[in-house]
Amino acid sequence: MAEADVDLFVIGGGSGGVRAARIAAEHGARVMLAEEYRLGGTCVIRGCVPKKLLVYASRFHAEFEDAAGFGWTLPSASFDWTTLIANKDREIARLEAAYGATLARAGVKVVKTRAALLDPHTIGLADGTRAHARYVLIATGGTPSYGDPISGLEHVISSNEAFHLSTFPRRVLIQGGGYIAVEFAGIFAGLGSHVTLVYRGENILRGFDDEVRQHVRVEMEAHGVRVLTGCKVAGVESTGGHFSVRLSSGNQMPADQVMFAVGRHPNTAKIGLTEAGVEIDRNGAIVVDEYSRTSAANIYAVGDVTNRINLTPVAIREGHAFADTVFGGKPTAVDHANVPTAVFSDPEIGTVGLTETQARERLAQTDIYKAMFKPLRATLSGRDTSVLMKLVVDGLSDRVVGCHVVGEGAAEIAQIAAIAVKMGARKADFDATMALHPTAAEELVTMRKRSASYARVAAE
Ligand SMILES: Cc1cc2nc3c(=O)[nH]c(=O)nc-3n(C[C@H](O)[C@H](O)[C@H](O)COP(=O)(O)OP(=O)(O)OC[C@H]3O[C@@H](n4cnc5c(N)ncnc54)[C@H](O)[C@@H]3O)c2cc1C
Repeated sequence: MAEADVDLFVIGGGSGGVRAARIAAEHGARVMLAEEYRLGGTCVIRGCVPKKLLVYASRFHAEFEDAAGFGWTLPSASFDWTTLIANKDREIARLEAAYGATLARAGVKVVKTRAALLDPHTIGLADGTRAHARYVLIATGGTPSYGDPISGLEHVISSNEAFHLSTFPRRVLIQGGGYIAVEFAGIFAGLGSHVTLVYRGENILRGFDDEVRQHVRVEMEAHGVRVLTGCKVAGVESTGGHFSVRLSSGNQMPADQVMFAVGRHPNTAKIGLTEAGVEIDRNGAIVVDEYSRTSAANIYAVGDVTNRINLTPVAIREGHAFADTVFGGKPTAVDHANVPTAVFSDPEIGTVGLTETQARERLAQTDIYKAMFKPLRATLSGRDTSVLMKLVVDGLSDRVVGCHVVGEGAAEIAQIAAIAVKMGARKADFDATMALHPTAAEELVTMRKRSASYARVAAE
């Protein structure tokens, strides 16, 4: 039986694993990486990148409509799903190849197979070969969950399949209230589907600022997405090429496609964690310290499999920090505070820092500054939409601890605002910054009047 001997074996060729493997190799380590599906992982193959491409596609419809108010007359537009998916797939294949080329250039040996630990230093590959490694990095990511078993679950797709549908669904029912559910609702609605979003909780986008959640919901509904909260899918029946969906409310709804986006769980099954002495928590996530080290001294884990903050830049940063720590002689802990995030919904959300609720639980005094306004573009397009901007400020130190934007360009705005929030900018620094006119973001530096101020409330 062939046995490779390496300094580092990486299980998983996604955002975290690829970065860690490359940097470790650049530090001089002999590195081997196993990927069972496609290099690039969730983000590149069936996450952030293809999703954003579909989001772009979905936004043209509103652009065409808006153009009329600016004097344009366009021939009636038509959309072809097959072309979009083929073009998207071509770009994903290009990116996948680029990941392979980068790893090859760095001297990382890639094996396209499933890998599992046999003991803390031995990795078994699906073809029966083994590798011996001084260190192991687990970067196996996560997988869509489907929730409680229901009848007809076999008819339900996840985001994985949504990227590869052979025909465009005219009626889509999506269950879930998180960012993936909300983004796909926007994608399908923008491309012309009748979309119903079903969520068991009180309101969509749990974890985001409450006003942001409400604002997005109202706008989504105004843009034609039907949002049903407080109920869930109880069963799905196949009815001659279509589906009949039974809701817990007793209602029955027809759909051409039923998608669940009800969360994701860490990929920790059958990868030899017990054999290697790697501890997991009750959600199945690998437990790590601030250097991403597991309970086994030579085994580390990064990215979604550790369920810290499940975003690509976080996985990349953790992978890089691991390589610097173990092979670069530079122990580096990742700072998980003030990570900006976006929801590419319709309308878009960009946010960084504390929500109003979090601030009011943690700070002695919380000041809120808020602006809601019709964007300039909507004055001629006639689109019924408004932008929400909100700053959450520590009333005692004047530090801006949260920035929340809903509207066009929100994600781009949040990325830049995150620098200021991370640096500890005060509201006075925002005020001292000259406005850039005419933009929507200028509101963030011109909100002079406090809209509310609260003394601390007890956490619920
Ligand atoms: C629909 C969707 C949209 C998203 N949008 C965004 C976004 O806009 N912005 C953002 O920051 N994040 C987004 N994310 C999250 C982001 O994709 C993940 O946080 C990120 O990919 C995590 O990287 P990772 O390296 O931990 O895991 P992954 O990228 O999931 O990589 C893990 C890899 O390990 C492989 N693997 C698993 N087990 C084994 C094994 N035993 N042997 C060999 N290989 C194995 C898998 O095939 C996979 O390629 C999105 C996710 C989804 C699902």
